[in-house]
Amino acid sequence: MRCRDVVELMTDYLEGALSARDRERFEEHIAGCDGCRAYLEQLRLTLKAVSRLADEAIPEPVQAQLTEAFRTWTSTAR
Ligand SMILES: [Zn+2]
Repeated sequence: MRCRDVVELMTDYLEGALSARDRERFEEHIAGCDGCRAYLEQLRLTLKAVSRLADEAIPEPVQAQLTEAFRTWTSTAR
C-alpha cells in the first residue's frame, strides 16, 4: 500500500469502515511511515473538532481539503 492509498482510506479507517484485510494493510503502512502517522493524527484531531460542531458525517469539502493538503505534502517530500 502506498501513501496515497493510505490517505484515501484514512477517513474510512477513523470511522471503522474498513474491511479487516484493508485495516491490517493500513496499520502495517502506518507503523512504518512517519508522514502518514503524523497525518493520521492531524486528521483525527480535525475530525474530533468538526464532530464537536456537528454530529454528522464529515462534509465532503473538508475531506477534499485534507486530502489535497496531504497530496501537496507528499509531492514536496519527494
Ligand atoms: Zn505513508
